[in-house]
Amino acid sequence: MTDQPSIDALAALPVSPQGHFIDGRRVPSRDGAEMETLSPRDGRALTTLAAGGAADVAAACAAARKAFEDRRWAGRAPAERKRVLLRLAELIEREALSLAVLGVRENGTEISMALKAEPGSAAGSFRYYAEAVDKIAGEVAPTAEGALGLVTREPVGVVGAIVPWNFPLMIGAWKLAPALAAGNSVVLKPAETASLTLLRIAELAAEAGLPDGVLNVVTGQGAVAGEALALSPEVDALLFTGSGATGRRLLEYAARSNLKRVYLELGGKSPNIIFADAPDLDKAAKVAATGIFRNAGQVCIAGSRLLVEDASHDEFVAAVARHAAAMLVGDPLSLASEIGALHSEAQLRRALGFVEGARAEGAEIVTGGARLMEETGGWFMAPTVATGVAPGHRLFREEVFGPVLAVTRFRTEAEAVALANGTEYGLAAGVWTGSLSRAHRMVRAVRAGLVHVNTYGGSDLTVPLGGHGQSGNGHDKSLHAFDKVQNLKSAWIDLG
Ligand code: ADP
Repeated sequence: MTDQPSIDALAALPVSPQGHFIDGRRVPSRDGAEMETLSPRDGRALTTLAAGGAADVAAACAAARKAFEDRRWAGRAPAERKRVLLRLAELIEREALSLAVLGVRENGTEISMALKAEPGSAAGSFRYYAEAVDKIAGEVAPTAEGALGLVTREPVGVVGAIVPWNFPLMIGAWKLAPALAAGNSVVLKPAETASLTLLRIAELAAEAGLPDGVLNVVTGQGAVAGEALALSPEVDALLFTGSGATGRRLLEYAARSNLKRVYLELGGKSPNIIFADAPDLDKAAKVAATGIFRNAGQVCIAGSRLLVEDASHDEFVAAVARHAAAMLVGDPLSLASEIGALHSEAQLRRALGFVEGARAEGAEIVTGGARLMEETGGWFMAPTVATGVAPGHRLFREEVFGPVLAVTRFRTEAEAVALANGTEYGLAAGVWTGSLSRAHRMVRAVRAGLVHVNTYGGSDLTVPLGGHGQSGNGHDKSLHAFDKVQNLKSAWIDLG
């Protein structure tokens, strides 16, 4: 039952110290190292996690390699793999509330969002890729008569996945589900501050019938366990979501080791563009606020730049600021909260630093700008709207990953496009207009992997998500996600 007493009861349960999940078993680090994880709700310790090192990563990669080579999973018929992953989706749904609460205690997302975005989305991903895998066939090439050309898809082998803390289950499942459905073995390194739910998913996968060694989870610091995974000669493809700085390192690690394929989903500074002819400016203002402030702005596709046509600017910005100020910031485990905590003290300081910087550069803070509820020990911040943000400002160009919206005024469609494309990123965008032609022109002109029209957020699994520019390569979601975890093989057969 999704009610407050059930949530409160789950939140009161102690969380036992956690080991890695390697070859079907929970194990401590080889050297016994542990690390504390803090709750963003109150800044207090939640539990300890194993702090994995190179030896733990090597053990997980060896287990994954052995499981792949002996075909215990890859050799099963796709319809059999489907059955196991559908069972996993059911188990995730059975534990949805408990997974959501556990995740929120560790990462601070408001529970109303986490319920849908975390276990709900993860179950959906496992179901989608399970359902797909026994329906995709290979190709017979259009050759001349004397030859037969066959194109088949094979699992790449061992997939490494490194995921962040903002939506560990959703993003984790975007990587795990296609990788496992395709028959790969996986070693997953969750964010050091958001590992608990993914460790639980590994146990549920075993309960669903996934053989030992096929899914391994090593917890630990990025610069230690993450680096060891990215350097491992056993990893054939590395799937990553996180910062651009780490993405660059992963490409270097691949170059220094075995040239593993590296797929990056990085940051964004996504423009949400409001034309004065938008059909419903009230809806646009509300969605502009939720599109940046849910999960305290810690969303890779967050609409963090609002570009508003001059004719509507003042009225529209006032409406967005009103909606922002009315959003309830509170305990992430309260069903009433619309915005939870920032994930860490460092994130909070970073976001507040951007506000100070914006003021110094001449922007005006029209609402928010300050820490809230400091007495709780948690990391809360008021949703913040800054106007008069110019292309030269840091707030225009750099990702905050916090609840700060940068507003810039434009006069013409051409100017809107130039502003929209004026950063190194290209992850997502929004366009609000009543003109069909303008909507299509903007979809073409804006450099982004995902362009929303008259909405923001909420695209489902059927469409791919991937960055243009420095927002990454490769795609999560949709059938295109299989491309990262499968090799194409051609057979050329002489028919004599
Ligand atoms: P964020 O700013 O979202 O925390 P990061 O890129 O730092 O983004 O973290 C995303 C993931 O990358 C986490 O799982 C983290 O542990 C991991 N990570 C961080 N640094 C490295 C590194 N040098 N090598 C491999 N993984 C890393």
